[in-house]
Amino acid sequence: MELFDTHAHCDDARYATEYEGGTDKLISNSISEGVTHIVNIGTCLENSRVSIELAHKFDGVYASCGIHPSDVLSYESVDDVINELREMLKDEKAVVIGEIGLDYHYDDVPREAQMIYFEKQMELAKELNMPVIIHDREAHGDCLEMVKKFPEVKGVFHSFSGSPEMASELVKLGWYISFSGTVTFKNARVPKEACKVVPSDRLLIETDAPYLCPTPHRGELNMPSYVKFTCEEIANLRGVTKEEIAKITMENAKRFFKIK
Ligand SMILES: [Zn+2]
Repeated sequence: MELFDTHAHCDDARYATEYEGGTDKLISNSISEGVTHIVNIGTCLENSRVSIELAHKFDGVYASCGIHPSDVLSYESVDDVINELREMLKDEKAVVIGEIGLDYHYDDVPREAQMIYFEKQMELAKELNMPVIIHDREAHGDCLEMVKKFPEVKGVFHSFSGSPEMASELVKLGWYISFSGTVTFKNARVPKEACKVVPSDRLLIETDAPYLCPTPHRGELNMPSYVKFTCEEIANLRGVTKEEIAKITMENAKRFFKIK
C-alpha cells in the first residue's frame, strides 16, 4: 500500500534531536515504509528554502513555500517577501503555496497582519496559477470569506477542523479537504462527521508531523509513516478498505499538486 502524506514538516528541529539520523533518515525511512510521496511544508522563507532542498534530495518529496500566519511579524516588507516567494516558486519541485491562512487560537499576532499576508499570498497564487494550502485555526468564517474573494484560486484546507457543512461548501467551491491524525482522536466528533461528507475525488490525508500524532501514538513525535493510521480511520468511517482510501488519496494528491 502506497501513501501520500500531503503535509509534513520533516525539517522540524525536533527530528535532529529526537529521531535517530535526523531529517534525512526520517524521509528515507518513510519512503521505504510506503509513504512514497511527501509534501514538505514551509512556514517562513527560511524553511521554504529548506523544503526545496529536501525535494531535490529525495524523489517523491515536493516543496510547499509560504508564510504561516504565526510567522508574519518576522518580516518588515510584505512585498519583499512576496518577491522572494515568487522566485522560489519557479523551482520545478515547488508545487504549492503554503501554509498560509489565519490562526486565531493564540492571540499574539494581530489579525490585520495575518490578513495582509494571507491576501497577498492568495494574489500570488492567482498570478502563478498555483494551488494553496490553508491553515485555518479557529478562523473558519474569515478563511471562507478569503476563499470566496479569490474564485480563481483553488486549494486545500489542511488538518480540517470545520463542520461537515463547511466541508461541503468548500467542495462546492472546487476545494479539497485534508484530514490529519486529529480524525483518529476518540473525542473528534466533528472531523469524523466531516470526513464522511467529502466526495472521494476531493479527499486528502496528511500527518502535519511532528505535530498531531494519531492514535495509538497520540502525544508522541509524529512522522509521515503514521499517515497510515489516518488512512485506516477514514476507511472505517466511510465503510471502505484502507487500500481504497490509499489509492484515491494518492490520485487526488497527484492531481491537486499536478505531479505526474
Ligand atoms: Zn503544518
